[in-house]
This record gives sequence, structure tokens and C-alpha cells, in this order.
Amino acid sequence: MTKNNPNTASCQDEFDPNSLSVTQALKQISDQIKPLSSFEQLALRDALGRVLAKDVLSTINVPAFTNSAMDGYALRFEDMHNPLNLIGTAYAGKPYENSVLNGECIRIMTGAPLPKGTDTVIMQEHVTKNEEKITIEAAHQSSHKKGQNIRQYGEDLKLGETALAKGTKLKAADIGLIASLGIAEVTVCRKIRVAFFSTGDELRSIGETLEEGQIYDSNRYTLFSMLKCFGVEIIDMGIIKDEPKSIRLAFEVASKNADVLITTGGVSVGDADYVKQTLAELGTVNFWKIAMKPGKPLAVGAIGDAIFFGLPGNPVSAMVTFYQFVQPALRQLLGQEQTSNTTIQLKCISNLKKRPGRMDFQRGIIFTDENGNFCVKTTGNQGSHVLSSMCQANCFIVLSQESGNIEAGSLVEVQPFHGLM
Ligand code: AMP
Ligand code: MG
Repeated sequence: MTKNNPNTASCQDEFDPNSLSVTQALKQISDQIKPLSSFEQLALRDALGRVLAKDVLSTINVPAFTNSAMDGYALRFEDMHNPLNLIGTAYAGKPYENSVLNGECIRIMTGAPLPKGTDTVIMQEHVTKNEEKITIEAAHQSSHKKGQNIRQYGEDLKLGETALAKGTKLKAADIGLIASLGIAEVTVCRKIRVAFFSTGDELRSIGETLEEGQIYDSNRYTLFSMLKCFGVEIIDMGIIKDEPKSIRLAFEVASKNADVLITTGGVSVGDADYVKQTLAELGTVNFWKIAMKPGKPLAVGAIGDAIFFGLPGNPVSAMVTFYQFVQPALRQLLGQEQTSNTTIQLKCISNLKKRPGRMDFQRGIIFTDENGNFCVKTTGNQGSHVLSSMCQANCFIVLSQESGNIEAGSLVEVQPFHGLM
């Protein structure tokens, strides 16, 4: 990392030639991160939400035997036009053991192994049964195909094939898939330890009485919640006073115990200089101006072995910068595949105010209009202190750096919230 940039950020100017674009900032952060290399072995049920450190290879062919996808009758396709003799039943878990000959068929249940000699299953609704004989209804005869309604041996996964790749964050379906292979334990990346604290002399904790000019610290609660959803080991270090000794101590403690350290507040113009001084002494930290709104000032670097993110103090800015920058960094630490936050294009029914120069992450609400089409509208006041805008929102409306005002009816890029918020 390079040494501190003395140009600290102000929220007044729209375009600043010294600022980084969001893409540049993401790239610089990503270049600094090496994935964690310690793993742990977990019982399958404890692995939900964790990230695979090794590929899970299929231990079997799936399905392990050819079986019926329907309740119906198993037969030879060439016998389709005959009335057939019903000679037995195949159940899931209780196969029909003998071979089936010309002119014969077997009653078969979903999941039952396909009896020897048969190649096709007719769904029971298309068959008339008369004592021990069945006839395939004429109306349906031409629509049948050889091999229909059958799940073929190995069609889902082949023995030895990668069932789930390293870097996969395990969801319910993944846990089920691993169970279907009979695998009881998986190797996952260890949890990331994230320490965080708030800075600001005006901040008080819940339970304290507020005096003139003081506010409750909300950032620690939003950060706690987003980190909890992400699934990290949380080290909440409280509020740190704007005084050199406390700040130094907090940074030292955090960098020894955590992989990532996040602070909020104290990274913009007007902040006590000793925050920056302390950071410069303890590590390599850059103070960036990012061409985005909200969240222009951001400090990124390293203190000891810990990656450091100094997020802006305004509650919306802290959430937006966490979502856009810290979250991808956490994913990279876990070795997850780097996918950028998904965006979709939707019609915006609100006029949006925007000055060219920065990328805007406005708070929006995706909804369905009277015709059943997805649209987006603004949450209203876009002030970076208006935390309720984040409560109402279910997406960011992402407006490019160059974009000016948006007129109602235009298509806009929308980033639906997922997971953390
Ligand atoms: P700063 O980034 O420290 O200049 O703070 C910008 C604004 O965010 C100020 O109005 C602060 O009072 C407010 N702020 C800073 N930290 C927090 C916090 N932890 N919770 C709520 N508001 C905060
Ligand atoms: Mg402050």
C-alpha cells in the first residue's frame, strides 16, 4: 500500500479528479487480499452458510440405479400397443427382482428401480386396468416415447465428478446434495474474525442518557447485524473516544485478534488528526475519496495482519460502503468466487435528483405495478443520515458517475438487496 494521501474528503464537491471510481476502489481492495488458508472439518449440519475449502467429489453415481420418475407401469416400449399382463409390483426400496418379458408389465412406484427388461414408464393416468391386464389409452398412445419417465443411472452426477466446487457458500440445497452422496463431514474455511468499533465523542451507547449534541451509536448495531448475517466471528469493541491513547490501544488490540478491522466515523475532513496519525504509525492505511454517494471518504489498508476498513460515520454511508466494499472483501477472504452484486434494469417511476460526478447508490423500493410488472421507486429523502431510507428500501438504484437527473419512466440499474439487509 502507498502512504497516506493527505487529500482528505469533503462531501461538498461533486466531481473530484483525485477521487477513485467505485470500480478502481474495488480492484485496489481486491489486490490487497489473500484468501485465508486455515480450514476446519465440520459435521454436515454445522456447515450451513460456510464456504467449502475443498471440492466435494461425488462418491457415487446419482441416481445410483435407473428408476421410475412416476407412479405408473413399466414395460417394453415395443409392447405399447398391446394389452399387457400385469405380473408384479416394484416399490421404492423394494425392487421387482425378475425379468419382464414381451407382453408383460409391472406396476411401478416413483423411485423404484426399473425392472430388468423394461425401458419405459407410462403414467398411471394414461392406463386402464382391468383385473390383471392393462391397456394404454388410445388417446395418449402417440405421445409416448421410449425411455420416458425414467431417471437414468448417473444422469445427475457421475462417480468422481465435482458435485460442489471449492468456494461454494453452502445453502440448504447444497447440504442436501452432500447428504445425498452419503458424506457426513465437509472441509470449510475457518470463520473470519471481524473486530469493529465506532469513533466519535458525540456517540453514546444504549442505556446512557443523551446530553445536548450527543447521539446513540447505531453503526455498531447495523454492522453487527450485517456481519451476523454474513456469518463471521464478531468482536464488538464498543465506542472509542477521540483521544490518541484509546485509539492506539484499540487498533493494537484489534489487529492482534482479528482478520478484519472495521471502524466507522473519523475518516473525513474535520476529523481529529491523531486518528490518521495513529493509523500511519501502526500500519499502511490510505485515505481515499471515492466518486460515490453516499460514502465518499473511505480508509483502506492494513494494520499488522488485519485488513482495515475505516467507513464513514453517517449511518447510510457506513451501510453502503460495507455492502459495496467490505462484503466483497470478506467473500474473497473465504475464497468465494468473486461475483459482483447483481444488477437488473427496471423502470423507475420517480424523478431522481442526481448531479454528474459520482456514482449514486440511491435507496429504492422494487414493487409490482398494476400490470404485474416489476418497477422501482425512490424511498424519498436521500440524505446519508436518513437511516430509515435503508429500512424502507429493498434495493439500491445505481446511477453511473456521468448520469444527471433521471426522469420518471426511465430504465435504471437496480441492485436488489440480498442476504445482509
Ligand atoms: P464522521 O464520519 O465521523 O464525520 O461522522 C459523520 C456523521 O455521522 C456525524 O453526523 C456523526 O455524528 C454521525 N455518526 C458517526 N458515527 C456514528 C455512529 N456510530 N452512529 C450513528 N451516527 C454516527
Ligand atoms: Mg466523527
